[in-house]
Amino acid sequence: MIKITLPDGSIKEHQNGVTPMEVAKGISEGLARNVISASFNGVTVESTTPLTEDGSLVLYTWKDKDGKKAFWHSTSHIVAQALEELYPGIKLTIGPAIENGFYYDVDFGEQSISEKDFPAIEKKVLEIARGKHDYKMRSVTKAEALALYKDQGNEYKVELIENLEDGTITFCDHSSFTDLCRGGHIPNTGIVKAVKILSVAGAYWRGDENNKQLTRVYGISFPKQKELTEYLELLEEAKKRDHRKLGKELELFTFSKKVGQGLPLWLPKGAALRERLEQFLKKAQKKAGYEMVVTPHIGQKELYVTSGHYAKYGEDSFQPIHTPKDDEEFLLKPMNCPHHCEIYNSSPFSYKDLPKRYAEFGTVYRYEQSGELHGLTRVRGFTQDDAHIFCTPNQLNDEFKKVIDLSLYVLGSLGFENFTAQVSVRDMEKPEKYIGDADNWEKAEQAIINAAEEKGLNFEIESGEAAFYGPKLDFMVKDALGRQWQLGTIQVDYNLPERFDLTYKGSDNDLHRPIMIHRAPFGSMERFVALLLEHTGGNFPLWLIPTQAIVLPVSEKHEKYAEKVLNSLENHEIRALIDDRNETVGKKIREAELKKIPFMLIVGEQEEEAQTISVRRHGGEDFGSISISKFSDLVSTEINSTLKSF
Ligand SMILES: [Zn+2]
Ligand SMILES: [Zn+2]
Repeated sequence: MIKITLPDGSIKEHQNGVTPMEVAKGISEGLARNVISASFNGVTVESTTPLTEDGSLVLYTWKDKDGKKAFWHSTSHIVAQALEELYPGIKLTIGPAIENGFYYDVDFGEQSISEKDFPAIEKKVLEIARGKHDYKMRSVTKAEALALYKDQGNEYKVELIENLEDGTITFCDHSSFTDLCRGGHIPNTGIVKAVKILSVAGAYWRGDENNKQLTRVYGISFPKQKELTEYLELLEEAKKRDHRKLGKELELFTFSKKVGQGLPLWLPKGAALRERLEQFLKKAQKKAGYEMVVTPHIGQKELYVTSGHYAKYGEDSFQPIHTPKDDEEFLLKPMNCPHHCEIYNSSPFSYKDLPKRYAEFGTVYRYEQSGELHGLTRVRGFTQDDAHIFCTPNQLNDEFKKVIDLSLYVLGSLGFENFTAQVSVRDMEKPEKYIGDADNWEKAEQAIINAAEEKGLNFEIESGEAAFYGPKLDFMVKDALGRQWQLGTIQVDYNLPERFDLTYKGSDNDLHRPIMIHRAPFGSMERFVALLLEHTGGNFPLWLIPTQAIVLPVSEKHEKYAEKVLNSLENHEIRALIDDRNETVGKKIREAELKKIPFMLIVGEQEEEAQTISVRRHGGEDFGSISISKFSDLVSTEINSTLKSF
């Protein structure tokens, strides 16, 4: 008999050789119907793998990330089989699951595929799937494995096998198809009920551009057709909300080949939006006791050697800038923290002066490979809404709570309601990985967990995810399409105070090390605006949107009155424009709708006579003909309802 521990801590005795599926059946038939894969002692196993020792078993269903992974990887085997049947002579390489779906890299030789071939592939995949073929793992010797693929003339699999140890090599069979595979499959092909080949792209063998370019076939599959339909609708919506597309349409930012890739250029409307976000945070930070500082974009190489950033970024990042004389070396700053440490060091502090909270919208530069760059989310130059708090160990809990408050205020004011937090702590089994005193670590981790609890955050504790220099809390935000983004980190740091020899005089008159907290509620302005664009589809909260209203005169005759309306709006601090082009009102409305301007104010004969405006909301809602002061009330009410006070 062996002892199987389940995630709820319960331990059950089973016959040696019991399979995860049999364990599931022992719990309930319903569970067994839904189990599609499992892990045993942290290693992925098949639901049919005999378990031959005591250990912890986790059973996965489609609802689990690992379940989806097994589902998608298993589908990639079926896709490989379908491709082989449809395109004889192709060479298969690898087919892993990815975040959403899977891919298979294939050498099509003289053949090729394009979008028009996708339906035939999907049909073939479903045909195979319906056969309900079991996935069966078997061990093979290195010689057997090599023989199979040498025989097929598949140099890719041969290369993979050559790098494996004899005795560790396994094949996966289903139907008449065999693939080299480590495992992690669903029980049988019949569970795959819907499949979509999404795209094809070029991909170098092993990601090396000196190697042959293969065809990467992307796809996704589901246990129900309905789920595929919903996913495809979501994809369509995501395309519409792509921040690169919206950024162009709303004239927020651009890129120039001449300036250089990964370096965003903010257009006037985008700059105004950014400015508003900065002002919003600056105001809240001021109330929270932060002081603004300003530091240069470069720093001496020595600064980063001291901070340790040189060792981390030096080799693979922008190279030092050399001065023409004096032989000085400077680096573009990858982080603001070293500069802020030196600001702290510029005057002596006693415990009574702490905490010190230095904030800066600091622009940093990090080299990213050109293939990694993506709109505003992966760039080479970006501005962090950075701040560093220097406090005593006793102040840590309080400071942490205050940063959480500020982060919640930011998320709430920008319409994010769906978020969770992750607290990253040490791996207790590897204390050598972390710097700093174990007592301090213990206190800091407790401080973060207490703060998260007291603030009622929905959070999870991840062991082993802490940085080597301190524990942290990350906010994870779900956008309107249910996609998860990591936003706003609060990081405790014992390392930099040590490296920069930061001190304060304690009540005992001795010198002590302060604790440093890094925090950035937005993360970076670039990434945040990208997220906000994709979350809102460009319909920013009213307090933030660059143009809140547009005045649309019905004809030239009413331009004077329109000007008067515009003036009056300005007096009410409403950001408005006028569209006095010689176009029909219908056309002007359509264009204002496309630009996502929240309010269209139509002025004609009747409005001029009554000294009113006809108010139409983006999306079509009609407020009728009202006075400007009533409109102003409408705007303030809406702003106050989102922009809570801090
Ligand atoms: Zn496999
Ligand atoms: Zn920092």
